[in-house]
Amino acid sequence: MTAHVTLGTREQARDGAPTLEAFSRQLLASGILSPSGVDGVWVRSATFERITEAVQRSVTALGRGRYETIQVPPVIARATLERAGYVRSFTDLVGSVHVFRGSDQQHADLLRRCDAGTDWAAVLDPADVMLSSAACHHVYPMCAGRLPPGGRRVEVRGECFRHEPSSQVTRHRSFRMHELVFVGEPVDALTHRDAGLAEGLELLSTLGLTVEAAAANDPFFGRAGAILADGQRQDAAKYEGVAPVGDLPTAIMSANYAAEHFGAAFAIATAGGVVAHSSCVAFGLDRVALALLSAHGLDVDRWPVGVRQRLWQ
Ligand SMILES: [Zn+2]
Repeated sequence: MTAHVTLGTREQARDGAPTLEAFSRQLLASGILSPSGVDGVWVRSATFERITEAVQRSVTALGRGRYETIQVPPVIARATLERAGYVRSFTDLVGSVHVFRGSDQQHADLLRRCDAGTDWAAVLDPADVMLSSAACHHVYPMCAGRLPPGGRRVEVRGECFRHEPSSQVTRHRSFRMHELVFVGEPVDALTHRDAGLAEGLELLSTLGLTVEAAAANDPFFGRAGAILADGQRQDAAKYEGVAPVGDLPTAIMSANYAAEHFGAAFAIATAGGVVAHSSCVAFGLDRVALALLSAHGLDVDRWPVGVRQRLWQ
């Protein structure tokens, strides 16, 4: 009897939805995601990719042909990440790339360390690239200089990394972001953020998700970071679209107004010659897929007809 009650509380939240724990167990048993051997890095099945690819097509459709489209690599120039302010503000999330540049003697040292099972990575040096933290970081260096009238709109997709090791299936260290980015006049940047938020939430609702907008702040690091986070929340600069995965409210999209932050950092000027403002509307493709699997079940072919039509018509 006691065992039954314990099982019940672990499997179901108060509203009867499966808990995140129960959803995760079913998801992994189905093979839709598989563990990689380290926390926060998941191997994706064809079923999972079928969903993320369909979500990508839906996000592209939101752009209605108004955006240049780019696909960015999983690494980014270290100088770009520094200029973006990411290294200072999100120090704990940064992922570095290290390479071997040593002599024959240092190579021998590395081999000895490998044989002894000790830390061979200590022999490596930081490269001139880091792991990409946000797809939109690649866009700002492209926009340096004077923008055309009306600014620039860029749709960008890429694999990103944030060092948040966790065994939770909603917390991926390596994940895909799909963003709609605007750089240009201040008023247009805000309009882009607000319209993108509304359209993004509507898209996610039409996919059958129970999604709500919430004012949010980025997880800035350290004491200075707490002040930045307060400012961001007070300025209502960031909103997240939050949907349940199991019983856990999970941010699956965000709409961010960066004001002149990136315009100043990357020397981007509007056609009129003032510092450009920017905003981005970002979808976490892996988390949207998880929210869909949580809402509609693990058998994609049995999802509601309207949702399947919307994604795969
Ligand atoms: Zn962004």
